[in-house]
Amino acid sequence: MSSDALTAAHDFKKSIPEGMKKINEDYARNPSLHASQKPLRAYVYCSDSRDPIEQICNVGPGVVFGYRNIGNSLEQQGTPEALSQDAINWLTYAAHIGVREFVILGHGNCGCMKNAYACNCAVDEHGHGHGMEADILGAMGKSKRFATDLVKAEEAESYLRKLGLPVGATPAETHIKAITIAHAFYQQKLAQDFFSKLGGGPIKEKVEYFELEATPCAMWAYCEDDKKFYNLSESCCCNCGCASR
Ligand SMILES: [Zn+2]
Repeated sequence: MSSDALTAAHDFKKSIPEGMKKINEDYARNPSLHASQKPLRAYVYCSDSRDPIEQICNVGPGVVFGYRNIGNSLEQQGTPEALSQDAINWLTYAAHIGVREFVILGHGNCGCMKNAYACNCAVDEHGHGHGMEADILGAMGKSKRFATDLVKAEEAESYLRKLGLPVGATPAETHIKAITIAHAFYQQKLAQDFFSKLGGGPIKEKVEYFELEATPCAMWAYCEDDKKFYNLSESCCCNCGCASR
């Protein structure tokens, strides 16, 4: 089924009551949710419609505290290396309600990363020039070139292999994936800097990578001890408990 057919065939009037019924059942089973929320971890993840965090984590209400935007970014557009006010609000509130584990989730086939990378193209499949995503990623506030400067093309393959991640099918895909990972680490650093100033106890900031297009689709988590990613569908690379799942 094409994406157009998928959208045309979908009956929200039917699916929403079904979804709400499931949420209500989960809610009723968990009295602790009635008074307040105490989510176990927070995810910064992309708005991409193929990147649904509750389904990826296979959890119901009350477990994941989410911050979702184009390209899973915490930065203020136009102001490199500075958090947006919205991100500051989110990070602060998440810590306030007790979240101590924050994950920056990059994902495969990310339109933001792809278009920022391919900013010389005139028009994308949606009929838009590539400047939009490039400017968002330039996140990052820097130039369109900033995306490709995160990891040089000639270094992309060794960058991914060193991290334990598979390379892409083409050199361009390898480079885009490397940029996606480097971008996630960059957001992690911003979060680390913020929490180190905020105080209030130890907080873990992690990086994960979700790849829908892999068969089977896969989630990788970065292990700080090993300095490598490992596939969460396999056992932990070092038995260090870094996944804490
Ligand atoms: Zn994306």
